[in-house]
Amino acid sequence: MRTSYAVGVDVGGTRIACGLVERKGRIIKDAKRPTPKSGPFSVVDAIIELAEEVQAGVQSSEVAGVGIGLPAQIDFLKQSIEFCTNLPLAGVDVRSLVMSRSRQEVTIDNDGNLAAFGESRYGAGLGTRDFVMITLGTGVGGGLFIDGEPYRGSRGLGGEIGHMVIDLDGPPCPCGGTGHIESYLGRPAIAARGREAAQGAGGEAILRAGGGSADAVTAEAVVIASNMDDPVAREILLEAGEILGRAFVGLVNLLNPKLIVVGGGIGEACGFLVERAAEVVASESLAGRRDVRIVQAELGNDAGILGAAALAFDEHDSREGLHR
Ligand SMILES: [Zn+2]
Repeated sequence: MRTSYAVGVDVGGTRIACGLVERKGRIIKDAKRPTPKSGPFSVVDAIIELAEEVQAGVQSSEVAGVGIGLPAQIDFLKQSIEFCTNLPLAGVDVRSLVMSRSRQEVTIDNDGNLAAFGESRYGAGLGTRDFVMITLGTGVGGGLFIDGEPYRGSRGLGGEIGHMVIDLDGPPCPCGGTGHIESYLGRPAIAARGREAAQGAGGEAILRAGGGSADAVTAEAVVIASNMDDPVAREILLEAGEILGRAFVGLVNLLNPKLIVVGGGIGEACGFLVERAAEVVASESLAGRRDVRIVQAELGNDAGILGAAALAFDEHDSREGLHR
């Protein structure tokens, strides 16, 4: 049976957002709450309650299922959470727990993959079969779409673009590795550059954006100062764009995508960082691949909900033997 709605849940380190989504990508009803910190079962309870809340008044037969995006490394085939930095969910069978209580089909996936899924169905990747998504937020995530399908790798753990090595002697990455993209472009890395700049010559604008205390400077403060044309803040983010561009050169040479979509809070707030990355790709990629477009994501804060709902629709349709 062809269903009209899916529930998309976006579990983040600070908040859980949930929406009832139409097939065309319109969010009919949404609800959110802070992510509970009192253990894994409180997170599961919150997911179930939010999903019930957005489905109030809708027949369950009209709902394709529930998709859940988690900030975690997920074995997609087993639907198990292998590793989760910010929440105590590693090894917790979130899918079965939600499924047994909601009596609905549930599928979990990594939040970066789902951002790519959302952009593919409803955003910047619409109509493009081969594209790369990268999300610049607290962590740096990503997803690959190859020949119209998400590429997940042998166990579903693929797509971790943020953890590609770009400098053998680089700074430590929160994952435990060294010199990964995230160790340069995650919020903590940009904030650290901002704090350093705020204490030096020319750092006044960043200091002001941080509320007057260098220790309180966040990545967002650097972005705010850069959007007011502060040269020091712009320099920090242009350098981040340069690093991102160099990472993209590797991806473009390897995969020859048609499009790269840059999302996440930092990626969406900072157009010139993305433009700088595009310039690097245009001048340094191997010949024949330079027509790749590099654009900002279009779905903003809704990417996680929409991507999770798109996954739920897809899983439903493949169970039912329906084709898109
Ligand atoms: Zn890493």
